[in-house]
Amino acid sequence: MEKKKGILLVISGFSGAGKGTIVKELLKHYDNYALSVSMTTRKPREGERDGVEYFFVDREKFEKTIAENGLIEYATYCDNYYGTPKDFVESKLEAGMDVILEIEIQGALQIKEKFPESLLLFITPPSAEELRNRLEKRGTETKEVIAKRLSRACEESEGMDAYDYIVINDDLETCVRELHAMIEAARNEPVRRGDFIKRIRGELKAFHLGAESGEK
Ligand code: 5GP
Repeated sequence: MEKKKGILLVISGFSGAGKGTIVKELLKHYDNYALSVSMTTRKPREGERDGVEYFFVDREKFEKTIAENGLIEYATYCDNYYGTPKDFVESKLEAGMDVILEIEIQGALQIKEKFPESLLLFITPPSAEELRNRLEKRGTETKEVIAKRLSRACEESEGMDAYDYIVINDDLETCVRELHAMIEAARNEPVRRGDFIKRIRGELKAFHLGAESGEK
């Protein structure tokens, strides 16, 4: 039997779309997921802890990690670096866990290129108006940052077609349930069952050759 390898899941969405909450719910309700902790040069927000929400580093350390090939992808977002450390992702996938990367679009595209069997999910609120309301309600950013994030969302909307699924976050519970169901279904798509396909093809070929030599 093939060793069960986990799925590499990319979850993107506009800032304020509710990705963070959705990911927390997935981790709480199901035991197949592991969340990758990214490295960033952004300053911690109030309440954020080093090694939990992010590994907070300076530019020098970030650039050193890039040079050492320690990241599977990285990007700049609103003047800061963000990247995914390699070791955690590889070891969890090997152990059969589905690894979640909560990353923005440039990183997502790098992942699709390097790992064609990854699954890309894009989370969006039902409307732009709703997105602005959620960003304002969050109260963690200045007006200027909110404006920057909305303009970034506008740019990001151009890349939504590259994703495998668009997930509309209207009601949290429904959204989490639907997302989990999509991931379960994706497990059996041919791109992720390559080892199985290879094995059964081999077995059938062996039957076929056996039958042919028996005929002679
Ligand atoms: P925030 O500053 O709000 O925590 O994150 C800003 C953006 O960076 C979000 O869209 C988030 O998904 C993205 N992000 C977080 N970690 C990574 C990462 O490791 N790589 C990339 N490419 N984007 C990331």
